[in-house]
Amino acid sequence: MQVTPLKRLADLWLGTDPVQRLRLRQTSLAMALMALCAPVLHYCVLIAHGERGPWLWLWTAWSVGGMALFYGCIRSGHSCRFADPSLTSVQIAFAISSAAFGYALAGPLRGAVFPVLTLILMFGMFQLRARSAYALSFFALVLFGAVMTTMALRQPDSYPPLVELGHFLMLALMLPAVAVLTARMSVIRQRLSQQRQDLARALAQLEVIATRDELTGLPNRRQMQALMDQELLRSQRHPHDFCIALVDLDHFKRINDSQGHAAGDTVLRHFAQAGQAALRATDVLARWGGEEFLVLLPDTPLPQAQAALERLREQVAALSVRIAEGGEIRLTVSIGLAAHRAGDTLAQTLARADRWLYEAKAQGRNRLQADAPTEAPAARLA
Ligand code: GH3
Ligand code: MG
Ligand code: MG
Repeated sequence: MQVTPLKRLADLWLGTDPVQRLRLRQTSLAMALMALCAPVLHYCVLIAHGERGPWLWLWTAWSVGGMALFYGCIRSGHSCRFADPSLTSVQIAFAISSAAFGYALAGPLRGAVFPVLTLILMFGMFQLRARSAYALSFFALVLFGAVMTTMALRQPDSYPPLVELGHFLMLALMLPAVAVLTARMSVIRQRLSQQRQDLARALAQLEVIATRDELTGLPNRRQMQALMDQELLRSQRHPHDFCIALVDLDHFKRINDSQGHAAGDTVLRHFAQAGQAALRATDVLARWGGEEFLVLLPDTPLPQAQAALERLREQVAALSVRIAEGGEIRLTVSIGLAAHRAGDTLAQTLARADRWLYEAKAQGRNRLQADAPTEAPAARLA
C-alpha cells in the first residue's frame, strides 16, 4: 500500500496507536479551536481598549502554550500513567480558566465567551462521567462568579455590577443544564459499551459452540472439515504432503454396556486428552462422530505420520482411566491412515483412511493400518 505524504504527516502528528490517535485527535481539535479563539480575543481587546496590553499576551502564551503542553504530554505517552490518559477533565478545567481569563480581558465583547464556554463543556460529552461533568460545571460557575465579582469591583464602568449579576444568573442556569446533558450522554455511553461487551462475549461463546465438541473440547466435525479444506488448498498452492487418520475406540459399546454411559463419556474425555498429548502441536485431533476421531497431520509425509500415530496408539493402550463409579478402564484404538495424493479429493483420501480402519478392525484391533507407498486397500464392504 502506498503511503501518501498526508498520511505520513498524520502519523507523525498523531502516532500509529489507534487509542492514542483518538486522544490526540480530540486534543488537536481543542488546540485548533484555542488557536482560532486567540485572534478573536485580540480583536475584542483592540476594539475595547484600542491597544493590546501585556495581559493579553500573557493570556495568549498561557492558553496556546497550555494546550501545546497537553498535546506533548499525551503524544509522548507521559499521560498514560494517569487514570485518564486523555486528560479530559484537566484539559476542560484548563480551558474554563482560560475562558474566564479571556472574559476579564474582552470588555464590552465579553458575551462572546459564553458560547465558547458551552463548547468547552461539550468536549466532556464524549468522555466525562456524570460526577466530573457536575464538578466541572460547578468549577466554571465559581470561577466565572469570582472573575465577574472582581471585575465589577475593579472596573465598574466596563463591568457594571448589575450586568455582571445578569451574566452570572444566566451561567447559573446554563451550566447545570449542560452538566445534566453530559451526564445523560455518559449513561448512554456506558449502556452502549456494556452492550458491546455482551455482544463480544456472546460471539466468543458462539464461536466455541460452532467449532468445538462439547464433551471432549476437541474441534468438531465442521471445524475439522474447514481445517482439512484449508490444508488441501495450501498443498495445492505450495505442494507438500499431508495425512489423514481415522481413530476408532475398540469395543467401546462394551464399556457403555458394562460401566454405563457416563463412564463411556469419561473414557472419551481421557482419550481426547491423551490423544492430543501424543501428537505435535501442529497436528489436529478432532471428534468426527461418536467414538470415532480424525487426525489431520499437516505438512507431514507418511512415515512420520505413521510414527506419530503408532505413538498415539501405544500411549492410549497404556492409559488407565479411573471412573467416578470406582474401578479403572483400559482401552485400545484402531487406526486407518492415508496420505493425501495430489489430484485426489478429500473425500477420496478419507474413504481410503476409512478402508484402512476397517482393515485394522478386521486384523484384530489395537493396530494401525496405513497406505503402503504404492498400495491401496481393497474397497470396504458394507
Ligand atoms: P468397534 O471396536 O468395532 O469399533 O466396536 P465399538 O463397540 O466401538 O463400535 P460400535 O459402533 O458398535 O459402538 C460404538 C458405541 O459408541 C455405540 C454408541 O452408543 C457409543 N457412543 C457414541 N457416542 C457416544 C458418546 O458421546 N458417549 C458415550 N458414552 N457413548 C457413545
Ligand atoms: Mg469403536
Ligand atoms: Mg465407530
